[in-house]
Amino acid sequence: MKKSCCQDYERYKYIIENTKDVVWEMAPDFVYTYLSSNSKEMSGYELSEMIGHRMPEFLNEESQRYVYGLATAYLQKRMQGDCAEIGLMEVVFVCKDGKEKWVEVAAKPMFEDGQFCGYIGTTRDIDEKKVCEKQLQDALADLKIMNERLKEAVYFDSLTGAYSRRKFEDDLSAAIANRQNEAIDFALLFFDIDYFKKINDQYGHKMGDHVLVELTDLLKETLGMANHLFRWGGDEFAVILPATDLAEAIKAAEKIRTTVGEHKFLDGTQITLSIGVGAYQSDETDNQLITRLDTALLSAKAKGRNSLVIC
Ligand code: GH3
Ligand code: MG
Repeated sequence: MKKSCCQDYERYKYIIENTKDVVWEMAPDFVYTYLSSNSKEMSGYELSEMIGHRMPEFLNEESQRYVYGLATAYLQKRMQGDCAEIGLMEVVFVCKDGKEKWVEVAAKPMFEDGQFCGYIGTTRDIDEKKVCEKQLQDALADLKIMNERLKEAVYFDSLTGAYSRRKFEDDLSAAIANRQNEAIDFALLFFDIDYFKKINDQYGHKMGDHVLVELTDLLKETLGMANHLFRWGGDEFAVILPATDLAEAIKAAEKIRTTVGEHKFLDGTQITLSIGVGAYQSDETDNQLITRLDTALLSAKAKGRNSLVIC
């Protein structure tokens, strides 16, 4: 059965009055000409306080500029024959009690006999969604900072400030990949303090810690920025020497051995190092390289310490 105009009107009126969104009409200069009655629930204003007033008057300053900017751009496009839609706008509405809330405005221009005669659209309260978005953004920013801190904690040895064993593993994999892709040489040093237990026994563990810190500072100074120093564990350290062949690595190892041997720690205590030195060989895996260097270091110990063994 065909429905009458009156039935249609009642149905549309019922939908408009019962939807959560505010439905409105505006003149070309943004003056409200119609607002659904639920507008008061969203804004706190009586209909009579809004109808006859321009929509941007109810927005905060930033949103006013945004709306005017969008509308001007839209009308210019329209005059050039571009019939693009305005789309959705997220703006800040200032309620009657002064409280600001985010709303989403969907606007459609209306035409009568081809003449632009205003806008029809809806306003939706999205304040809760925006608050959640902001909380999520803040949480993500906090997470990013925490991740950075975590990475720092994982990549640095907390006692000495040297890079950690974990960083060594990552850097070694990167150096091997570089060597395989771009044929860039690199070399490795493994070294360990000779008779370090004696320092602990003689001066105490705290002083032993102090020697490890002072040794790290001395090694960083000797090696320079490009060569990374890693604390492998205990009194054992490693150095990756980028863009370095075996002959240069031997020179660097000898420099470290003599510099540390001449340095006076604590109240004049001196220490020596046993060092394994080797350059990366084609197709070696990281584990093979580490084992080769570790064996060289053990050989340096067996040779009587304070020495280096090339492998
Ligand atoms: P070697 O010449 O064979 O290397 O003899 P060593 O006495 O140095 O013995 P080794 O390298 O096997 O052991 C290292 C010692 O370093 C064991 C441990 O007591 C000490 N040590 C390990 N980590 C720390 C630390 O963080 N602080 C201090 N103070 N001592 C540590
Ligand atoms: Mg030792």
